[in-house]
Parts: sequence; structure tokens; C-alpha cells
Amino acid sequence: MTEISPAIIDRLKSALGPKGWSQDAHEIEPHVKDWRGRYQGHSPILLKPGSTAEVAAAVKICAKAGIAITPQGGNTSLCGASTPQGEVLISLKRMNQVREIDAANDSMTVEAGCILETLQNTAEEANRLFPLSLGSQGSAMIGGLISTNAGGVHVLRYGMTRDLVLGLEAVLPNGEVWSGLTGLRKDNTGYDIKQLLIGAEGTLGIITAATLKLFPRPARMELAFCGLKSTDDAVEFLGLAKQASGGAVTAFEIMPRNALDLVLEHVPGTRNPLQGRHDWYVVCEMSFGREDGARDTLEAALGEAFEQGLIADAAIAENDSQQHDFWRLRETIAEAERAHGKALKHDISIPVSKMPAFMNQATATVERDYPQAEVIAFGHVGDGNVHFNIMARDAGAGDEFLAGIKPASDIVYDLVDTFGGSISAEHGIGILKREELARRKPVDVTVMRAIKQALDPDGIMNPRVLLG
Ligand SMILES: Cc1cc2nc3c(=O)[nH]c(=O)nc-3n(C[C@H](O)[C@H](O)[C@H](O)COP(=O)(O)OP(=O)(O)OC[C@H]3O[C@@H](n4cnc5c(N)ncnc54)[C@H](O)[C@@H]3O)c2cc1C
Repeated sequence: MTEISPAIIDRLKSALGPKGWSQDAHEIEPHVKDWRGRYQGHSPILLKPGSTAEVAAAVKICAKAGIAITPQGGNTSLCGASTPQGEVLISLKRMNQVREIDAANDSMTVEAGCILETLQNTAEEANRLFPLSLGSQGSAMIGGLISTNAGGVHVLRYGMTRDLVLGLEAVLPNGEVWSGLTGLRKDNTGYDIKQLLIGAEGTLGIITAATLKLFPRPARMELAFCGLKSTDDAVEFLGLAKQASGGAVTAFEIMPRNALDLVLEHVPGTRNPLQGRHDWYVVCEMSFGREDGARDTLEAALGEAFEQGLIADAAIAENDSQQHDFWRLRETIAEAERAHGKALKHDISIPVSKMPAFMNQATATVERDYPQAEVIAFGHVGDGNVHFNIMARDAGAGDEFLAGIKPASDIVYDLVDTFGGSISAEHGIGILKREELARRKPVDVTVMRAIKQALDPDGIMNPRVLLG
């Protein structure tokens, strides 16, 4: 990597002005450590451009000098994708304006540094829904969410972030601004450049703004927390719930008994809404355009599932506060896992129909070969995406435990291949899965390298990430 000379630093500072940079160690520190505490990085300067023109100016200076850049949003990456190791760090946090809401077009145009939760609220104020929803929504920024093609809990109904983006504006690796902001749903004018940037993890340019799809706000959301015997029953229950509600299921999340136990132990104020204990739990959310009939539809679906023996018990949230409590049981699993100790994590997807067979086989094999470990597999089963994590049976596990069970990843990923799945469902590749990607998808990586070479011949954009 080219050394960053004091002269270049000075040029960057004067291009962005006093609000646009920092070399203060205290300010930089939270930007150079990842959320999980796995990666500690460093950067000679944190740039905080306030406009697309300033991003372009900074990238031009770096491009000319051959200096590498790491773009950063909320720094919630779970695979080390936004931790700089000496690169110039460009945070989009000051670019947080909503440029336009076009309610009649069901779209909004926003800058890359807008935090997801703020955008959800902005859409609500316009009587619309922006459906992207995930555990990190209080920090993750739309530029980062687009760059990782984030998923979350509503993919089942609304798709991944890729499906929610109509247009993009980005600064390309040579510093040129590409203006692809459009609210069009139909635009067949050759290669779709925005799709290259979505999920590129900052390796092809810096996203500065996006036009996003909005949807009608549901008049009523109903939520049930259910106890079940098995993942087979969960998948059958999912099919039944979708059919019985006329496609109203907007989220369908699964968690095993050990995940609920960890949450109840480590997350203050949580409580099990069901009396008995079950091997599996499902959070099932339905959204309706009308208030009347909503509860009846959920109850009818649950009633049918009881009759068919697919669920053993269920509680329906009676109000917003109970809905919040039920969701908390699912959304705090990662926090509870962290409190228990370190875990070997896999964010994988499998066709929904094959999910039970995968879960049974992968769990049995891992727990047979690594008796010190237990599987804690939870997540978005409605999309065939589970976080298949392996944690220590005893609390307080550290790096030694992780090193000992690392080969278990091969068991998981080999079975993912066997079942026609993906080694990265929604979190991306980052630093964490670079080698695994190269090993398992060599042809894809060759094509990606060709695209990278065409757009970023000097390899300055996030050079260690994705392709390495
Ligand atoms: C508690 C928790 C729960 C989570 N749950 C989910 C979940 O359910 N589903 C899911 O998909 N993910 C989840 N994540 C992962 C993470 O939140 C997402 O990957 C998110 O999209 C990252 O957004 P960010 O703004 O924090 O991006 P960052 O972490 O800052 O960056 C992520 C990547 O995008 C690049 N990047 C950032 N901004 C830009 C930009 N403007 N232009 C170009 N490249 C850019 C970075 O270089 C990096 O490669 C979770 C994370 C946490 C901590």
C-alpha cells in the first residue's frame, strides 16, 4: 500500500475544511475497531465529507496518489469489512440529509449517512413504510446497508436491500461522480450499474445517496410467539401461515430453546410468554391493510396449526408493548451470546424446504465431533437464513475455545454446499470469509476480479475486503 505523505494529508484537509477531518485519536478509536471486537485497525486520518462534491474531491486526491480508502457507515459490519488497516477512512456520517420524499411515487431520496431507524421514522411521517428492519438499525447507515445488501426480518415479504433500491449516486474509484438517482421502476437502458455497487462492500466506489422504495403502511400488525417440537414443524407452520393469511406473513423467525434460555439469563427485563418449555420457538408476524379481521386471521392460522400438531403453544401480543417484548426475545440473542462467551458464527442460507434436514445433520455432526460445544442456530427461517453458531457448553469461552473448534466451520460449509446453500446469506464476506469465498466460488471470484479491474485498476477501494 502506498505511504500517505504529510503533503497528501494536508491536501485532504484543505479539500474538506475543518469540519471534514479528524486526527484526534479519541475520535478515531471507535471507527477503527469492529462491533464484535475481533478486528483492531488504524488510520492516519478520518475524513468526514459533508457533500458528494467533498467525497469526490477526497477520492480524486487519493486516486492520483494511489492511496487506499476504506468507506464506513455505522461500523456494524460483522465480518470486518469496515475496519481500516492504514487506509484513509472516509465516514459518511455527516451526509445525513433526506433530499426528497415523493409520496405519490412511493420513493425517498436520502444521503448515505442516514441511520436506518431515522429513515423508518421519516417514511412513517409520510404515511409510508420503509420495511428494512434489523438489530443494528439504530446505528447502521443506508450506504453501509446497501453496500452489504443487508437482509433483516422483513425479507420474506419485501426482499433484501437490493430489492428496495431504485437508484444510486456514487463516487467511482477515479473520483468521478456517477449520478444514477432515479425513482423509476422500469428502466431498461443496458447494464444496471447500481446492482454492481449493491453488495460490493465498498470495493467499487463510495455510495453517497440512494433513492429507496416505500410501501403502504400496514394498518395492523399481529404477532405470535409459538412453541414447537422441531424445525420440520416450523417449516410446515410457515407454509400454513402464509396460505391461511393470504400472504400476510411479514416475518417468521426461529430460535432454539438454548437461545431463549441465554436471553432470559443475560438480558434484563425479558420473560418467556409461554408456560411450558419447548425445543423451538417461532416469532410470527402478520401485517394487514385493514384493522378488522386481522386478529381473526392470525388466530385461525394458529388454530389450524394446533389441530395439525405443528405448534404446541402460542401467545399473541395484546398491544405494542407486548409486541416489543416478543421481538426483544429474538433481537437480543446476539447480545446474550456475547455475554455467555465467544462463539464460532456462520451466517448461511439453504432453500427453506431443505432447512430442517440441514439443521438436523449439521447440529448432530458438530456436536458429535466437538462435545465441548453446542449449536445455537436461530434466525430468518422464512428466508432460509439461519445464524448457525457454535458456542461453548460452559460460559466464559474465549479465543482458546474458538481456535479449538475452528475446523467445525468446514463441517458447516461442506453441508451448506451439499444442500445448495450459501456461505454468506446477509452479512457479506469482508475479511472474515475472503478465503472461504475464493475456495468455494473460484469462477465467481474471477469474474468479480475482472469487474474490479475495470472500475478500480489501481485497487484503491477497500483493497483487503471481499476479493483480498
Ligand atoms: C446487533 C447487530 C445485528 C445485525 N443484524 C443484521 C441482520 O439482521 N441482517 C443483516 O444483513 N445484517 C445484520 N447486521 C450486520 C450489519 O448491521 C449490516 O451489515 C449493515 O448493513 C452494515 O451497515 P453499516 O452502516 O454499519 O456499514 P459498515 O459496517 O460501516 O460497512 C459495511 C461495509 O460497507 C462499506 N460501506 C459503508 N458505507 C459505504 C458507502 N457509503 N459506500 C460504499 N461502501 C460503504 C464498508 O466499507 C464495509 O465494507 C447486524 C449487525 C449487528 C451489530
